[in-house]
Amino acid sequence: MQCDIKIQGGMDMSKKVLIVGGVAGGASAAARLRRMDEKAEIIMFEKGMYISFANCGLPYYIGGAIKERKNLLVQTAEAMKARFNIDVKELSEVTKIDRHRKVVEVRNIKDRSIYEESYDVLVLSPGASPVKPPIPGIDSPNIYTLRDIPDTDSIKSFLDEKKPQNAVVVGGGFIGLEMAENLHSAGLKVDIVEALDQVMAPLDYEMAAIVHNHIRSKGCGLHLKDGVKAFEPEGNRTVVVLQSGKRIPADMIILSIGVKPNNTLAREAGLEIGVTGGIKVNEYLQTSDPNIYALGDAVEVTDYISGNPALIPLAGPANKQGRIVADNIAGRRETYKGTQGTAIAKVFDMAAASTGVNEKTLKKLGKELGKDYITTITHSASHAGYYPGGSAMAIKLIYTLQGRVLGAQIAGYDGVDKRIDDIAIAVRHRMTVHDLQEFELAYAPPFSSAKDPVNMAGYVGSNVLNGDVKVAYWYEAMNADMSRTFLLDVREPSEYQMGHIPNAVNIPLDQIRSRLKEIPKDKEIIVNCRVGLRSYIGVRIMMQNGFDNVRNLSGGYKTYSAVEADMKSI
Ligand code: FAD
Repeated sequence: MQCDIKIQGGMDMSKKVLIVGGVAGGASAAARLRRMDEKAEIIMFEKGMYISFANCGLPYYIGGAIKERKNLLVQTAEAMKARFNIDVKELSEVTKIDRHRKVVEVRNIKDRSIYEESYDVLVLSPGASPVKPPIPGIDSPNIYTLRDIPDTDSIKSFLDEKKPQNAVVVGGGFIGLEMAENLHSAGLKVDIVEALDQVMAPLDYEMAAIVHNHIRSKGCGLHLKDGVKAFEPEGNRTVVVLQSGKRIPADMIILSIGVKPNNTLAREAGLEIGVTGGIKVNEYLQTSDPNIYALGDAVEVTDYISGNPALIPLAGPANKQGRIVADNIAGRRETYKGTQGTAIAKVFDMAAASTGVNEKTLKKLGKELGKDYITTITHSASHAGYYPGGSAMAIKLIYTLQGRVLGAQIAGYDGVDKRIDDIAIAVRHRMTVHDLQEFELAYAPPFSSAKDPVNMAGYVGSNVLNGDVKVAYWYEAMNADMSRTFLLDVREPSEYQMGHIPNAVNIPLDQIRSRLKEIPKDKEIIVNCRVGLRSYIGVRIMMQNGFDNVRNLSGGYKTYSAVEADMKSI
């Protein structure tokens, strides 16, 4: 179709700012810029029908926790105009940037016209798109991805009209798990397929194992270490064929295997693209063209811990970057200092959260446990045991030998959010495990304990660094060479009988002093109890009685048995 191309605007002396993308990053940049600069001309282009919708709420509308569709629509073009005097162009896709002339080409999706718009400053916040690999049959019916309101409407109307009985969710990331939960609560039988040996990549395996067991307890199928080989249409259904040969017929499929940054516009304009595929930006969030800023899921960020380039597509960073970009356009010099990836997801009744670096990543970076970093796992109650309704949470803390907190992961039920946020602050401000033990946190029995779970994680870290105790890990107990290792279980016999580490010898803590002769001094000793507290006391008794080679099993039998149960189910 031939179109007349007209250049609009460009006559005003005030700064003219065009924003590409009208949701998380774009809309926050626009609103902040107006607050900073009443005179600027601000035009925001959004290729979809809706600006500023609640991406993060979409799974919960599908599952029914959010009842009203209108609640997903946080802002409208009219409201943005009325309150912020922002000219919002919905159904308008920016298709080209001419950096030389400082104009963009815009395609009006409604009437298919094309026009040009000039800019002084351009902001790119085009987000990311779901990955759709070329798996045979990927375009079979009833395969959905979830990114925006139209995707949500398609899934919701399929559920309402076709009443599917089962679904397969491909990909065990945050969105995949949220969809699994929500489809389950909408009454479907759900299977999750994940090519890796665990869901939720930011967690290390032993923490993910806790989540796996919970997912299975809800009656969901969990197919780990098994990627999709093909989708085969079969009547009204599509069969998901796995690499193992397993076949799962599905009424619907949610494809949720990650997102890739929308970098085409920037790439075609000759802007620098980073090694990760994200648009490259400097600390002021300027691209390689200083008149063009970029932010959100589309940009390559600096990992706050490693300093390496990374893609970390989260709403918090996108919104914060929006504010920084606006401030810089308005003449300030604000810098973005990197993303540490603080995240949380509700997985059925559980919450799983992480911040900073995980152990897998440290290993990939060539770091060595015991030399470059230490990890400890604590299990604490969400609030005082004597006050009803408490629940347990597992905290894995990762820190350097000097004590600097590098990251944490928490899996639990209640109060996970506030604990991960406490530790996120410690990570951001380069605090140590010693600082964690000093944190003065709000306490009353319904909310916490006088020693909060974060304090406890700090105490354990400090104990390790001070040399009060050495730690052993679940895989060392699992693979112990019994000719060299003595596994000692200091729980009560009734607990031991309910389940224990194979070959572990049971001597209850209160009998240790009188039975020290039964413990060999020529072997390395790994002591466990349920969570690691009684065994720590046992270790201290032994260390003060001439046992040099004795370690406490981090996370105790609770972590060990979570991993063992998971391994048996794979
Ligand atoms: P977006 O918010 O995606 O906005 C980009 C917009 O740009 C899109 O609307 C797109 O249509 C538009 N666009 C693209 N190209 C053009 C163009 N050429 N012209 C005009 N418009 C264009 N993050 C969390 O931190 N916590 C969560 O719980 C969470 N849950 C999520 C759940 C779901 C289902 C999804 C999809 C995402 C979730 N996220 C969550 C991620 C979060 O939504 C994103 O990180 C955030 O929206 C990124 O903001 P953005 O501005 O970069 O991109």
